[in-house]
Formats: sequence, structure tokens, C-alpha cells
Amino acid sequence: MNEVLSKKAEKIASIVRCPACYGSLVISAPDISCTVCGSNYTFESNCPILMTPEDREHLNRFLATHASQTVPSANSRIRRWLFPPGPCYDPRRPERMARLWSRFDSSSVIVDVGAQSARLREDVVTVDLAPFAGVDVVGNAHRLPIGDNSVDLIINTGVLEHVEDADSVVAEFHRVLRPGGLVYTEIPFMQGYHPDPADFMRLTYSGLNRTFRQFHIEEMDVSSGPFSGLAWVVREVLASIFNGTGTFTWAWMMSGWLTFWLKYLDRWTVSKPFSHRVASSYYVIARKPES
Ligand SMILES: [Zn+2]
Repeated sequence: MNEVLSKKAEKIASIVRCPACYGSLVISAPDISCTVCGSNYTFESNCPILMTPEDREHLNRFLATHASQTVPSANSRIRRWLFPPGPCYDPRRPERMARLWSRFDSSSVIVDVGAQSARLREDVVTVDLAPFAGVDVVGNAHRLPIGDNSVDLIINTGVLEHVEDADSVVAEFHRVLRPGGLVYTEIPFMQGYHPDPADFMRLTYSGLNRTFRQFHIEEMDVSSGPFSGLAWVVREVLASIFNGTGTFTWAWMMSGWLTFWLKYLDRWTVSKPFSHRVASSYYVIARKPES
């Protein structure tokens, strides 16, 4: 195990808590137990599953309810080959992320909530609702298995629209962040319905101000701009002419190939003063107040 990974394992052990009572955990694989309420947890695919039995039951019902909605999907080899490039382009992201990372060194505790298999930096602790490849801790974003005031930076990209109660999730970010800690969020606005496995809502700047009202908002701006929004919408509009799931999916893929390039025009529009009115997505950098 290299040094970064063993340091990360130490970080994980120091921040995780019992999701039932937030008590300290004793982790000796394959067993995890709470020193306060006595709840026991397990590992799956080398990943601690820190969810209460009630949350797991709720999650299974949630997945069963929403799982069949994902259309179109790359669920065959032909479709994977023909699946068009995504319609979103965020030209300022590399510079923005470099600036964000420069504020946190290797001793910082950084948690990516809803990371799926993405790993933005090797020392980032990833949390998701299932043990996907690359996930470090399985937990419920509405009740994070993480102690109070223990995290320096929360990353959360393209997740809040998919959770059942975004306000509770943001309240959890506030609880686990140390005073002065940051949350980095990306959230869609002008994007079509995209269940993963569900898709509940969009927020405007006003909505984001309300959702992050416990925080000091350092930055709120467009990430993918109006032409990304247009590329997404045109793809869906052209496909919506068709009735069947199969014909819709093929039309969606073909119109995706015809229109995806529109997104690159955002290099020009993304920083315009009114681009947020129909932008594809926004980002927020918000700080938990010191007191
Ligand atoms: Zn407990």
C-alpha cells in the first residue's frame, strides 16, 4: 500500500461514525461495531457499508421504484459504440479545480459525496450509496456516517438533483464540515430529465442561495453554459417526436451526434453576464461560517 493510500485509510478511520447514533466505531475487518449503541456493520467488496438496516431497506425500495426509468442507456455493445458525446462543456473547470485543490494539502480531509467511480484526487475519500468500484465508504447522503466538524472539503458534483431531500443532504454537509470548511457543488439547470436512478429537481441561483443559506457563498457561477443547455434540449426535442422506447433511444443518439458540438460555443458565452438564465449547470463554492 502506498503512502497516500495508507494515510487515506487513517483518515477514513478517524472520520467515520455509526450512522445510527454517530458513536465511534471499532473497525477490525470483516467486522465493524459501534462502541455506543452496539450496532454492527459489514464490508462488501472491501468497502465498509455504513448504513442502518432501515436505510438499506429504504434504499432498496427506492432503487426498485426508480431503476427502470433510465432511458436512453448504453445497454448493448452497439449502443455503447453509438452513444453520442455528452452535451455539457465547462471550459473553466480545469482552472477552477486547480484553484480549489491548491487550498488543500495532503493532510486535508476531502470527501466526495456521490462520487460513483470518479476519483478526482488520490487522497479524496469517496462516499456513495453502493460499493461501486472506487467507492471508499457506502453511506446515505441524508445521514452521512461521518463525525461532526471533521471534514475540510466536501465535493458534490451532479448529485443534489438525484437525492430525495437536497436540503437534508446540504444540512449534513454543514454538520460534517469543520468551521471554515468548504463545499464544492455542481448542479444542473437547463438539462433534460436524467434519472440516476431518480431525478427530482433543478435549482436557479435564488434556489441555490436558499439551499446553502447556512453557508457563506464564496462563488456561484455558470459551469456548463447556454449552448450546452441548447445541445441537451435539442437532442431531447428531436427524439421526443418518437413514441417507442427503442425509436426514441435511436433518435436520441443520432440527434446527439448531430448537435453535441454546439456545447463548444460555450467557450465564448460561459462568462457572459446573462448566461445563467439558460445555462446547463452551475457551481457553488460555499464556506461553513467559523462560528
Ligand atoms: Zn451507534
